[in-house]
Amino acid sequence: MNVTKNQTKDNELHSTRILIVDDEAFQRTVLETYVSKFGYRVCLAASGAEAIDFCQSLAPDLILLDLKMPGMNGIQTCQQLVSLSSLKYTPIIMLTGMNDTLSIKDSYSAGAMDYLIKPVNEVLLKQRIEYAIDNAKLLKRLNQKERELDEMQKLAHVGSFELSVENRNICISSSCKGLIGLSSNELKLTFNEFLNHVHEDDRQHVIFTLENACKNKQSYIVEYRFIYDEKEYIIYQKGEYTHVIDGDNDKSYLIGSFQDVTEERNAKESLSYSRYYDSLTDLTNRAFFESQIQHILSQPPTDSLFMVAFIGLDRFTLINDDVGHEGGDEVLKEIASRFRQYENMGHTVSRFSGDVFTMLIVNLHHIEECNKFLDEILETVRDPVTYKDRQLHVTASIGSSVFPLESENGRQLLIGAEAAMMLSAEDGGNRYTYRTHHMNTETQKRLTILKEMRGAIENDEFTVYYQPQVSSDSMEIVGMEALVRWQHPEKGMISPADFIPVAEESGLIKPIGDIVTRKACNQTKKWLDMGFNLVVGINISAQQFESDDFIDNLVSIIRESEVPFTNIEVEITESMAVKNPTKTIEILDKLRNMGIKTSMDDFGTGYSSLSQLQTLPLDTLKVDQAFVKQIRKNKTKSNYDNSAIANAIIVMSHSLGLKVIAEGVETLDQCEFLQHLKSDVLQGYLFSRPIDPEEFELLLIAQTDRTASAWKGIINQLKTG
Ligand code: C2E
Ligand code: CA
Ligand code: CA
Repeated sequence: MNVTKNQTKDNELHSTRILIVDDEAFQRTVLETYVSKFGYRVCLAASGAEAIDFCQSLAPDLILLDLKMPGMNGIQTCQQLVSLSSLKYTPIIMLTGMNDTLSIKDSYSAGAMDYLIKPVNEVLLKQRIEYAIDNAKLLKRLNQKERELDEMQKLAHVGSFELSVENRNICISSSCKGLIGLSSNELKLTFNEFLNHVHEDDRQHVIFTLENACKNKQSYIVEYRFIYDEKEYIIYQKGEYTHVIDGDNDKSYLIGSFQDVTEERNAKESLSYSRYYDSLTDLTNRAFFESQIQHILSQPPTDSLFMVAFIGLDRFTLINDDVGHEGGDEVLKEIASRFRQYENMGHTVSRFSGDVFTMLIVNLHHIEECNKFLDEILETVRDPVTYKDRQLHVTASIGSSVFPLESENGRQLLIGAEAAMMLSAEDGGNRYTYRTHHMNTETQKRLTILKEMRGAIENDEFTVYYQPQVSSDSMEIVGMEALVRWQHPEKGMISPADFIPVAEESGLIKPIGDIVTRKACNQTKKWLDMGFNLVVGINISAQQFESDDFIDNLVSIIRESEVPFTNIEVEITESMAVKNPTKTIEILDKLRNMGIKTSMDDFGTGYSSLSQLQTLPLDTLKVDQAFVKQIRKNKTKSNYDNSAIANAIIVMSHSLGLKVIAEGVETLDQCEFLQHLKSDVLQGYLFSRPIDPEEFELLLIAQTDRTASAWKGIINQLKTG
């Protein structure tokens, strides 16, 4: 009995003909071996044209079709095959490579019923073939019986459904029964009952897609997770809108097919892990990043921008030399983990190559938003990385290109961003640069500033503001930093951040620097004459410092103003000092021999180390705002968080005999803590923003009432208020 049954099945199988179309002989052989093993009859074709030829004389029961073939590719072949009326019921299964997954959609639109990813898994292949053939048979029978449902049957792959738009009922074909768990009496359900089975996170998407299909009377494809009996299925649903006239009534339906693609999706995921992820950082890799760009461009956003950013770590070889490859790896991992926040926000973050990360930032609306992102990324990288009790200072060079401003082509977006990253690196790093479009507007902005700046020098539009520096012991003003301001006749006050870089680039920083020095010296002389003992800090840019006549020029301006040398402090930055250490030492020595004070500005942001600092003839060290800003009082532990760096810098400076000025003091907690650490001088918005000379003078006069120092008064008020 059993024997006969098996024999019938064998005969049936053997009369089922499967056509394998693949240009590679090896692939054909592998597939042929499997398919014959399953018991089917095999026919072979080595190209699209051969397959069509074959099918014109003999219709196979199923076609396995390679996607990538020279000449006519799989999609084109598929389109031609489905147009042959003899193949009306012949399912086509497309064979795609892992990196061709984006063509899956194209395959479906071309009429393929299913797809399998190469290298093909034997079990999966057997199962898909059986499904497809059973389904084709079912289709054939359905078609013969129910001509009026012709349209639906054309679409029916594994299971089919019909959703009545008017009464929101769904009928599901009985073939879905085993498929997604539903039992016989559940094959008719309301739309809401159906939605209850859809995974919560996918529900909105499903509703939106279906509503859209009804509204626009069009077809749709939607993939979602379907939950039944605590089991999760991934359903691929393809459907279209139809509308029938039934007596006097117009009725609308969405009809279509369901397919359970859980296995494929899961297989794809586990396969793609090693292919798409970077093992060191656990971020996605270059292949994934590039596929994401192609993916977003397959349906480009119409009402938003997106940005491709290349983020290269500056001088990474130096870091590797310094802390070894193991240390370098730790830095990469730390940066990667900081970047993860962007992934959580829905952007794509990848490690593109060695020390280069890439991001795909989506859903942007203005260039300002792009700027904000890039600034934030720079800041994220700048936070020192702790490695074996050491603080490593890392910065990044970013290049960015924006869709659609720069290009609408994926390759161009990538090339553009990478080239822009190189420009940032050439410019010294720790900055971002846009590719063409915005770069042009940026260049134009710079050109305008440059043009206007020349006029501004002649029209005396540059003024100097002063920010008080307060003794941490007495709370009295002991000095001030001179900060340049541009009083533009139309644009109002322009911040130095906007014009100092252009001034440096164009050489105009020299005349502007002279103006600042002259005004600051004259002003200080005036206040000294009024009886206030103050030291004025003057910022010196790299260009001024490197010019041959720097000292002569400075000395002549100071002499002209008759202010004593000892009341002048020049502020230079670490990057200036490390560029040419011998020359720096020589200049600073000369200045100090005359009595002019020397100070290291923004300490901790550059590359200089304690040993380098030791060799420099300095009086003062200014702790960068970044370290002061981090300090926060921990209410529960009644100590201070993030204070280790500020603490270390201050202790170290004192051991070298340097005076310490802490910049960017904004809160009382910071003030109290810096007093506790014995920072000598404090500067920041807590005391005052930079103000014009008139206002500054009022401050000086206000604190001459020595019975109670003005700051003490203010701070006490803050404490009690
Ligand atoms: P800098 O030398 O580090 O100057 C300190 C900057 O920090 C000033 O910004 C000051 O307004 C700001 N600041 C002070 N306290 C606080 C605070 O509590 N919180 C915050 N958030 N900021 C605070 P400003 O005036 O915009 O100057 C920016 C930079 O421009 C300066 O940084 C300096 O590098 C440059 N610069 C300013 N004036 C001159 C100049 O005359 N010559 C040169 N070469 N560069 C200058
Ligand atoms: Ca400064
Ligand atoms: Ca500073």
